[in-house]
Order: sequence, then structure tokens, then C-alpha cells
Amino acid sequence: MTAGRFAPSPSGDLHVGNLRTGLLAWLFARSTGRDFLMRIEDLDRVRPGAEERQLADLRAIGIDWDGPLVRQSGRAALYADAVARLRADGLVYECYCSRKEIHEAPSAPHHPPGAYPGTCRDLTEVERGVRRQDRPAALRLRAGLETHTITDVLHGRVVGAVDDIVLVRNDGVPAYNLAVVVDDGEQGIDQVVRGDDLLSSAPRQAYLASLLGHPEPTYVHVPLALNETGKRLAKRDGAVTLGDLAEHGLDAGDVRRLILDSLGLSSADPADFDPARLPREPWVFRPPA
Ligand code: GLU
Repeated sequence: MTAGRFAPSPSGDLHVGNLRTGLLAWLFARSTGRDFLMRIEDLDRVRPGAEERQLADLRAIGIDWDGPLVRQSGRAALYADAVARLRADGLVYECYCSRKEIHEAPSAPHHPPGAYPGTCRDLTEVERGVRRQDRPAALRLRAGLETHTITDVLHGRVVGAVDDIVLVRNDGVPAYNLAVVVDDGEQGIDQVVRGDDLLSSAPRQAYLASLLGHPEPTYVHVPLALNETGKRLAKRDGAVTLGDLAEHGLDAGDVRRLILDSLGLSSADPADFDPARLPREPWVFRPPA
């Protein structure tokens, strides 16, 4: 199977920028004969009712999907199995560092600021016993390299930093990078279309995928929607959701046309979709006053 996907986090309503990314993911999948899967990334920050509204809004602008909806909250066994496989390969270690400790530690050579400095990588079993009394452990990947290169349809070759990413948080919840990579691999997703705010995550995710025996998907990181000041569009920018826009007299069909216009497309017919002609610049959205 070949498939693309959209993977919203149900933390609130989707705004026009999110809907636009969803429509692009759908167009990329449908225009290449792929299935299109919908995955709810509900391991974190779930707002009651958000999932239903997100799905209704995606449907309203003409997005459909194949097969049953997948929710990350129902897939704990898959994430645990992936961690067990990495652990069997000696690629997992416990980390007891707080955010503050990581922030304050001198950064390792060649690593960008914010990369994990490796504090807990080589503790002895005795040291681990002591540290475990302070704080529950997160599980980190023992990464075997410092950078990894991916190819993106819009960005070309992208070299990105790989550090000892968190696999399981210290509250036991699988980390975003682990869940995404396991799900994309297990669901047979070979095309990942998403906002370009996640471009820097792609190299480490592709590396993790390779460790788990999954092929690297085709990546397409699309430009985001921005507000008038050039910042990433957000709810506080005004009328940006389908619900808000309806109050200003714009129905779902109008918003769909607005999104298609912003992409230089006259229709959402996958047969007419040509990625080479997509705008490479972010979309500046001015909410109706
Ligand atoms: N759930 C993530 C989000 O809503 C997307 C993750 C992904 O596409 O890899 O931003």
C-alpha cells in the first residue's frame, strides 16, 4: 500500500492554515494515486469536542479519507513494542534530566543549542539507582550519528541535527517523534505532507524510522499561513476557523475557494494538481474584520 496522511492534534479548532495544509496533503496523496489516512494525534493536549469539529471542518472543505480513523491513544502496544526493539539493540537509555538541567548544561560539540548534551548517556547502574530516586526516567534514543540527510519535494536535500531524542516522556507517554515514526511506518505511509515548521524534525524522524526498519517516506513540507505581522497564524489573530468565518458570512465552500486561490489552483481536482507550480512563500491571511 502507498498512502499519505493528515495527522491533526485535537488541541483546538483548525484554522485556515491548518485546513490548507490538510487540503495539500489530500491533493498530494490523491494526485499520486495514494490512499489518504486520517490520524488523530491525541497523546497530549486533548480538548473535548475538538476532534469532532476538526473532522467535520476537514469534510466540509472537501477532504475525505480511507479506512478507519486511527487514534494514537489506542496504540500504546505498538509504541511499547518499538521501544522494546530499540532497547534490544542497545539503543535506549534512561534520562533523569529536567528541562532546566538540559538548558543549563554546556552543549555538546557540533550540536545546536537545545540538543541533548548526553548527561545520562553513560551513567553506571549505581548512578542510575541514585538518580531514579529524584525523578522518574524518560527514555532516550542512543543516536549513532549527529546529522542525517533527507530529501524533501519542495526543499530538496535537507541536512538536520540528530540528537538523543526522547522516546518516552517521564510521565510514560510516548514522545511525538516516536509515535509519528511508528505510526507512519506501521500504517504504510510513504508520503508525509505537513507544515514546514516540522521540517527540522524530519531528519531525526527518518533516522529513527531507519532504526525501526521502516523506509524513509517522501517528505513534502509546505509553507505555513502567517498573520499580517509575519508570525505563524494563530487563533488570537481573529476570525481564522471555519466557525469564525461563517459568522462573517463565509461558508465552507468560500473558504475552500480562498485556500485554493492561495495555492494558485482553480479547482481541487487532483488530476490538475502540479506541485511544481505551488507557491513557495508562506500565505499571509488577513482575517475579515
Ligand atoms: N500532530 C502534528 C500537528 O498537528 C503533526 C505531526 C506530523 O504531521 O508529523 O502539528
